[in-house]
Amino acid sequence: MSAPRPRPPLFDLPPYIGGRESVEGIADPYKLSANENPLGASPAALAALADLPSLAIYPDGGARALRDKLAALNGIEADRIICGNGSDDILQLLAQAYLATGDNMLHSAHGFLIYKLASRAAGADTISVPEKDLTADVDALLASVDDATKIVFLANPNNPTGTMLGRDAIARLHAGLPDHVILVLDGAYAEYVEPDIYPHGFDLVDDNANVVTTRTFSKAYGLAGLRLGWGYCPPGIADVLNRLRAPFNVNQAALCAGLAALDDQAHITRSRAHNTQWRDWLCQQIGGLGLAVRGGQANFVLIEFASPEQAQAAEAAMCAHGVIPRGLAAYDLPHALRLSVGTQAGNRAAIDALAGFLDTAK
Ligand SMILES: *Cc1c(COP(=O)(O)O)cnc(C)c1O
Repeated sequence: MSAPRPRPPLFDLPPYIGGRESVEGIADPYKLSANENPLGASPAALAALADLPSLAIYPDGGARALRDKLAALNGIEADRIICGNGSDDILQLLAQAYLATGDNMLHSAHGFLIYKLASRAAGADTISVPEKDLTADVDALLASVDDATKIVFLANPNNPTGTMLGRDAIARLHAGLPDHVILVLDGAYAEYVEPDIYPHGFDLVDDNANVVTTRTFSKAYGLAGLRLGWGYCPPGIADVLNRLRAPFNVNQAALCAGLAALDDQAHITRSRAHNTQWRDWLCQQIGGLGLAVRGGQANFVLIEFASPEQAQAAEAAMCAHGVIPRGLAAYDLPHALRLSVGTQAGNRAAIDALAGFLDTAK
C-alpha cells in the first residue's frame, strides 16, 4: 500500500512559523510579535462588521465596490486591482502563476519568509541575495538575475529589518530587470511611512507589464484577523491572477469592514502618528540600555544582541515578563529580536523587561 503523495516540491516544505502568541502562566501578555496595530481597527470598520448583510448570500467575487474605492483613494485603475484573502493570498498566487520547477526567484537575504515558502511550494529555487547594512542591495539583486529568474520579491519597507529603498533605487532595480522578470513590491507597511516619501510604485505598474505592488489591511488598518489584502497589477498579470484565484477568495465581512476602513483615513493618520512617536521612543530607550537598535520605517524595531544566545535569553526573559517579541532565527538573524510598536503600556513594559534582563545579566 502506498500513501498519497503530494507534488515533489511539497515533500520537505517547512511550515510557516509565526510570532509567538502566548506565554504559559501569563494571562494577558503584550503580544509584540506580529506587527499588529495596537490601536486596533477603525471604529467605522467595527460598526460595519456589526451590521453585515445576510451571510447566507455569497460575497461579490469581483470585490467591485472595494476595488473602486481603492482606485479612487490611490488614483489608480480599479481593473488592475485584485483582492485577496490577506496579501499572502496575492503573493501565493503570483508564485503559483509564474514559478515552476527549474525557475528561480530572488529575495534579499533577510526578506519576508512567505516569499521563500510560496516559491518553493511552486517548485522554484529561491536565491537569497546579500544585503548591505541590512538593506536590499540593488546591484547585488541585479547581478543575481539569470535566464531562469522569474520573480524578484521585495518588501519595502522590509520585514523584519524595517529598511526601505527610495524611489530612485526602486526605479533602478526595475530598469535593470529583463522584461520577463516580475518585480513584486510588497507594501505591507506602506501606511506607516510618511506619504510624501513613500515609493508606492503605482506609476511603475501603470507604465510596465512586469511590476506588481501588494498591500494589506493586516497592519495599519488593524484587520489582520479578517484576512484582506490586494495587489495592483499590469492587465496581463491581473487577468492571470483573476483566473487562478478562488472565485470567492475575499469574504463578506472583509469586504464590508475593508470598505468602511478605507473611509476612515483619520484612523490611519492616528495610527501612523502613534507608531512614529513610540518607535522613536523605543529606539531611544533601547539605545539608552546600550543595545543596537534600528527604528526603520515600519511598525517595529529591530534589536541586535551580542550573540544568538543573548537574543534567546532576552526573548525568554521578556516573555516571562509578559512581553512577547519575535525571535528571528528563521530570518537568518539569530542574534536579533523584532519588537512591534505596542500601546504605551506595552512599550513601557517591553523596556522594563529588557532593562531587567540586562541588569540580571550583569
Ligand atoms: C505582515 C506582512 C504581510 C501581510 O500579510 P497578510 O496576508 O496581508 O496578513 C505581507 N508582507 C509582509 C512583508 C508582511 O510583514
